[in-house]
Amino acid sequence: MYFDDNTVIYLDGKFVKANEASTDLYSQTLHYGYGVFEGIRAYATKDGTQVFKSLAHYERLKKSAELIQIPFDYSPHKLVEVTESLLKKNDLTDAYVRPLVFCDPNMTLARPNNVSIMICAWEWGAYLGDKQLRLTVSSFCRPHPRSIKIEAKVCGHYVNSILATNEAKDKGFDEALLLDSDGYLAEGPGANLFFEKDGVLFTPQLGNILPGITRATVLELAEELGIEVQQGLFEPKELFAADSAFYCGTAAEVIGIASVDETKFPKAWKDSLGKKLQDAYSKRVRESSTPATIFSTKL
Ligand code: PMP
Repeated sequence: MYFDDNTVIYLDGKFVKANEASTDLYSQTLHYGYGVFEGIRAYATKDGTQVFKSLAHYERLKKSAELIQIPFDYSPHKLVEVTESLLKKNDLTDAYVRPLVFCDPNMTLARPNNVSIMICAWEWGAYLGDKQLRLTVSSFCRPHPRSIKIEAKVCGHYVNSILATNEAKDKGFDEALLLDSDGYLAEGPGANLFFEKDGVLFTPQLGNILPGITRATVLELAEELGIEVQQGLFEPKELFAADSAFYCGTAAEVIGIASVDETKFPKAWKDSLGKKLQDAYSKRVRESSTPATIFSTKL
């Protein structure tokens, strides 16, 4: 359950009880998936709860809205403050935060005049668990960037993610791996991919994937740790020949991949670059940071 009788959410400028809030069944977002959202995590640090890269997430929310022409009149800085108040009001420390921008009632396909914003938060453990994942390459590819705005976090895009997840689970795997429409490695249904070969990390370049904020953090950490990372277009055979691999995302954090379609990675997770970065990531999110670090937006 994501809320109880005491849970408070933020809705259009006000904090309201979750179980008293309502929305319109004729919302364009509900019918057509035309809305944008974010997924953010807050962590307990020695200086209290900090929302990790909060501003970067709200800037991406604004950019997502702009990319699909949804009017967005909110200040990302203000939403950062709202999120901190929301966590305090709900007495949450380690939490997942979900902002959603959704449209007014409108049964046409024309651009909406007004939108609403809601932000809710709840305690959420590791999204993909803590065991290394067994992946399968999905029969679904990521949507072509000329069909949608792939770099935006749009509600409707997640039908693709849900179909790939369902297929993977039905086949007995933990999670899917999606290729792009040209057959290059893309990403997971809700996470970005990295793999290691001969001491170098590789990750799909931006263009056909969501520009993950965790991906950006991993790139920062790799630089700090002196790990070489190459971004580019990679074929599935390069992943199958890799030494180790991992997924990263706000909900999933950094999680090792054991195998893809039963091909196991030879390097033990404990010895991999992924494990180093997993440790560095767990440390980074709990460091009490200066705002400049928390809000760094290197994408
Ligand atoms: N790719 C997809 C498709 C996602 O849904 C997510 C989760 N937002 C990611 C990558 C990782 O993005 P982030 O690190 O910003 O959470």
